[in-house]
Amino acid sequence: MKRLAVLGHPVAHSRSPAMQNAALEELGLAGEWAYEAIDVAPDELERRVRAMPGEGFVGANVTIPHKEAALLLADSKSREAEAIGAANTLTFRDGAIHADNTDAGGLIDVLPGGVRGRRALVLGAGGAARAVIWALAREGAVVDVDVWNRTSHRAEVATVELGGAPVTDPKQSSYGLIVNTTSVGLKGEDPFGGLLPLSADSFDREQIVVDLVYGDRPTKLIEAANEAGAYTVDGIGVLVRQGARSLQIWTGHEPPLDVMEKAAREGLSR
Ligand code: NAP
Repeated sequence: MKRLAVLGHPVAHSRSPAMQNAALEELGLAGEWAYEAIDVAPDELERRVRAMPGEGFVGANVTIPHKEAALLLADSKSREAEAIGAANTLTFRDGAIHADNTDAGGLIDVLPGGVRGRRALVLGAGGAARAVIWALAREGAVVDVDVWNRTSHRAEVATVELGGAPVTDPKQSSYGLIVNTTSVGLKGEDPFGGLLPLSADSFDREQIVVDLVYGDRPTKLIEAANEAGAYTVDGIGVLVRQGARSLQIWTGHEPPLDVMEKAAREGLSR
């Protein structure tokens, strides 16, 4: 058996096992490959990862809070992982650990073709924001990447390291692409009451709005953007694309995106 896993803490809520096992089934690999969730405390990560090749693991996704630590223990790193300073995908090959970051490419994959030439606003400067800022500043071919964060100093640091420019008072209607990477909305919070520099009635149909947050119902941000006719992508859409890139790295097969998305969404409503 070729084993795969997601390592996190906590990890029980992860949609990755349902999504990746559905993909393996669709590809006819389910008898040979299997994907599981493993809860690993931070002080156990290195020992756990180093034991994995001997237990039949071919690779692993890494999620909160392990992405930076996973990069540090790898023997080799992709250009993206190195630049972003975090890894979400590990591959065990020839006795070595290789680190990738598919969050960046996954974000680009999920954007429609018309993203080129737009101005982008990234909300947040935490772990998820780093891949988004880097992807948009380097690969997205957007004109400008402005970064707003509740703690403005973190936006300054992130833009120095990754690209883009910090902004403290963004004008919502001036952006063609808005990406929420903050955790606002995770617990149903209203982003328009002052938590984010957005207002519910200032979206328009020309905009692309991405919210990395996902839950069992659409976030208020996605609802408001949909109402205005904007092109929206929710957190499951982003999750599927980063997971698809990881699966392709490990198996070499073209990932079945529709099957992965269906499995990830079904898991939420169960
Ligand atoms: P993180 O490193 O803890 O960063 C949290 C970010 O949210 C920071 O920018 C923080 O601002 C901001 N924030 C938290 N509470 C806030 C509030 N009340 N008002 C305004 N800003 C607030 O977390 P992360 O790893 O970046 O994850 C962020 C979100 O993205 C989570 O909901 C996570 O589930 C989601 N995510 C989704 C995917 C996907 O594939 N869909 C992938 C990764 C992450 P400060 O700096 O001021 O604290």
